[in-house]
Amino acid sequence: MTIGSKEGPPAPWPDIHKTVLSTLDALASSTGWIPTAATVGIEPVFERVLQQVCQPQGVTPEAYIDLITRDAGMRRDVQRRLARLMENPALVTMRREAQRREAEHQLHVLHYVLSGQQPPEWVLSTIDEEQQQQLQDAAESGEERDPVLLPRVQRALQKLATDPTKYGQCEDCGNAILLERLQLVPWAECCAACQRKREGVPDVEPEPQVAVTYF
Ligand SMILES: [Zn+2]
Repeated sequence: MTIGSKEGPPAPWPDIHKTVLSTLDALASSTGWIPTAATVGIEPVFERVLQQVCQPQGVTPEAYIDLITRDAGMRRDVQRRLARLMENPALVTMRREAQRREAEHQLHVLHYVLSGQQPPEWVLSTIDEEQQQQLQDAAESGEERDPVLLPRVQRALQKLATDPTKYGQCEDCGNAILLERLQLVPWAECCAACQRKREGVPDVEPEPQVAVTYF
């Protein structure tokens, strides 16, 4: 195979793959990559690993990605390791804290929209002009006011203010609510499964797993 190597001997792909895997395994016992993964995701961490491994071999990370995109076994090897890294407890804690700060901000903004109040300067200064306009329009028209959502938003804000560790924890089963769910529904009181139970919806869909969607 000559992918990525313009001339000379073919790239030693099996060795490169093995080195990528062992480098990813080695990350599990270090911490330097965790802040990056917490703020921008695992992709840049993975890209750095690929550069480190591929450059000395005279191939490009893109050629390696290309190769494993077409090889399900190799792809699985990598995805499994990336998923394992994402489960690192320190990373999970950091992601939850970052999500909590983000949710608090979103909920404050939403609270002003739903209650039809004019947002204070500090809220407006954290969002872009378009969002500011939307927020002001909503406050003036009152269209966005939702009598069901407002108390939920207020409860979530209260939880964040009084006992932040409870935020993101399912009120029914006590499990952590998936970050993906909290990002979409920052006022969620329970996990998706318990929410379905509350609503009497049959539990057909499995809870989405934390997936690494690099490929
Ligand atoms: Zn639950």
